[in-house]
Amino acid sequence: MSTTVSPSAPARTRHTAQRQCLVCRTGGPKESLLRLVRAPSGEVVADLAGSLPGRGCYCCLQRNCLAGVTNLGLLSHTFRTRMAPIDRDLFVTDLHHQASQRLAGAIGVYAKGGAVVAGSDAIDLAMAKASTVSGLLVVATDAGDATARHWRHRAATAGLAVHTAGRESMWGAALGRDRCAVLWVCAPRAAKRVEWLLTLAAETAPIHTT
Ligand SMILES: [Zn+2]
Repeated sequence: MSTTVSPSAPARTRHTAQRQCLVCRTGGPKESLLRLVRAPSGEVVADLAGSLPGRGCYCCLQRNCLAGVTNLGLLSHTFRTRMAPIDRDLFVTDLHHQASQRLAGAIGVYAKGGAVVAGSDAIDLAMAKASTVSGLLVVATDAGDATARHWRHRAATAGLAVHTAGRESMWGAALGRDRCAVLWVCAPRAAKRVEWLLTLAAETAPIHTT
């Protein structure tokens, strides 16, 4: 739980607080990790907005670590107090729902603010006008083959990250329309947040083995 600064970091690099995953001990920028706090009831609670009061600890966004934070001994050791037991599957499932909800909410808000462009035609137009094309593309899991292929190719050409996530109806609902097959998160800060939520949702999603 200490703040470390790499001695080799250039002096002009903006300082970013580093934290350690309580499970695997890997360090990383605070914003890249999931904050956890102890609720008054003694249970560990995920703090997706990073705003809950109290002493926090951090977990990286790897599936095994996210499930591993429910280990009571580890939790009690980390928080240096007795923690209430929680069900691992319920914790992970709830985390998945929270991440998905926040993702939809964020997309809606970002779209209103111009940080998300929705739909193939609108993205074509916006990319043609943009001086630099950055951020990330999100293609719905049930987007048509031609649409998905087209946007994966465009993303590769432009050097954009592309994520396949959410159904057309889910993105549509987030945007107040019927369906939406493709989103461009064009503002860097919004893209970072969306990528974080997408990763959290993916790493807590049920695994289909068949
Ligand atoms: Zn970890």
